[in-house]
Amino acid sequence: MPTTRDDSKDNINKEVADILLKTKEPPVARFRLLSKGMEPYHRLYIRDAEFDVVGDKACLACGNCIDSCPVLRRDPKRFEQTEQRTSFALESCVGEDCEQCYSCVLACPQVDTAYKDYIVDEVIPETIQPAPRITSLDNYFMALIALIIGMVIGVFLAR
Ligand code: SF4
Ligand code: SF4
Repeated sequence: MPTTRDDSKDNINKEVADILLKTKEPPVARFRLLSKGMEPYHRLYIRDAEFDVVGDKACLACGNCIDSCPVLRRDPKRFEQTEQRTSFALESCVGEDCEQCYSCVLACPQVDTAYKDYIVDEVIPETIQPAPRITSLDNYFMALIALIIGMVIGVFLAR
């Protein structure tokens, strides 16, 4: 569900989003820049005109994208390259080894909900393999089981 201020996923530029999602590099920074940035209702909003942060799209260095990346979780040695927890650090540590799971985008507080809705509702379901259907081999297996059960019952009845 969009937040009170977020657009619907139907209003995003899906063509641009698809290009970014198909690029084999960490996508979070680009989606952050496509988003609206800090809103006046955000907790980090500072009520001082001199330090107005509304619309600021900068990385907060919260590290959510780093923590959610499966490439880094499997290979923590990559962290040795930097102590930072930013999208730039993610790009440096993962690069073209990105597995395009989009966890980093979904975890980023600076990415609009509309993009997250689009990824969860329309992009990820296309990449998930459907559960294997019962194949004809499964039917042969069931027929074999039925035959064995039938034979056992037949032996009992013939006694
Ligand atoms: S979280 Fe997923 S999409 Fe983001 S950089 Fe890591 S592998 Fe790539
Ligand atoms: S999740 Fe946090 S660290 Fe990563 S890009 Fe977004 S604001 Fe920056």
